[in-house]
Amino acid sequence: NRTMLPPPPAKYGGRHTVTLIPGDGIGPELLNHVREVFRFSCVPVDFEVVHVNSALESEEDINNAITAIRRNGVALKGNIETKHTMPPSVKSRNNLLRTSLDLYANVMHCQSLPGVQTRHKNIDIMIIRENTEGEYSSLEHESVTGVVECLKIITRNNSLRIAEYAFSLAREKGRRRVTAVHKANIMKLGDGLFLQCCREVASGYPDIKFDAMIVDNTTMQLVSKPEQFDVMVMPNLYGNVVSNVCAGLVGGPGLVPGANFGRDYAVFETATRNTGKSIANKNIANPTAMLLASCMMLDHLKLHDHASSIRNAVLTTMNETRLHTADIGGQGTTSDVVHSVMRGIQSKGQLTSER
Ligand code: ADP
Ligand code: MG
Repeated sequence: NRTMLPPPPAKYGGRHTVTLIPGDGIGPELLNHVREVFRFSCVPVDFEVVHVNSALESEEDINNAITAIRRNGVALKGNIETKHTMPPSVKSRNNLLRTSLDLYANVMHCQSLPGVQTRHKNIDIMIIRENTEGEYSSLEHESVTGVVECLKIITRNNSLRIAEYAFSLAREKGRRRVTAVHKANIMKLGDGLFLQCCREVASGYPDIKFDAMIVDNTTMQLVSKPEQFDVMVMPNLYGNVVSNVCAGLVGGPGLVPGANFGRDYAVFETATRNTGKSIANKNIANPTAMLLASCMMLDHLKLHDHASSIRNAVLTTMNETRLHTADIGGQGTTSDVVHSVMRGIQSKGQLTSER
């Protein structure tokens, strides 16, 4: 079983406090829309807003954010920009947050959406990505001039727990198959260990079929026959690449929500963690992914009715092609979509109160 603690209980008359990190680019505007929708729906969640300035070399801001998440247990965040011009000692704030809180499982559910034109239909893939080690270990050095060693760390403990997470989630969701993605033909020890751990865990789940696929073949299969995949589990960097491929398959980064879970904490964001700097503050970003991420968060808090009401309104809005934002081929604005979502919530609300 996934050894995770239940979400923090509601306090003060049934209200939850959640840490909100606006982040950079389109993060602040999308999260303002989430707050607008939550207020409109009378969701019993109070946000504690924590700003992280990505232009600072000091880690004070991100440490404050991490402390706030430790206090509240749950966060919703925009992506914090990682400037490539900063010295190598300045680590990605997003990465620091995930590793400090030991948010070891990144979960993305990639599904074909109603109303969105895509090449492939019937996609329903759950991607479970190891979120704390692998290629993201930030262990790099120039051993002699012109030679850089960049270490990929694979551990038995972390591989077993991510595999366990994947199989236990697969069973809980009634899934049939888990595919481990690897490159153990080249990284025989590292990916070999990851694969071995997946096999060991699989033996405890005879009801779920297990197979393995090399990452290069995986990406090829994904773009040609994506409907063949069910649950996928993989190390960190493959997870990054594969989740972006999958997001693209169902319509892009503006549509898919993501979550990061550890034993103690949960952090919700868009699945592909984009900053979207070039489209920020233009009222053109697609708010769908962030709204759906907020629904995942509400489900985590066991506010299932609020989650379904907002999610249904978002999915109904997707059917309205004239409201589609530019990323999915339309001319609609962010606020058009959000207003339609609120209308959807309102009309459903009236329906239930009439009954
Ligand atoms: P990164 O985080 O690597 O900078 P980008 O912000 O460049 O990623 O995002 C990749 C692409 O996806 C960009 O073209 C961006 O405009 C687009 N994109 C990301 N999020 C959204 C969104 N919510 N709505 C519309 N387009 C988006
Ligand atoms: Mg970019």
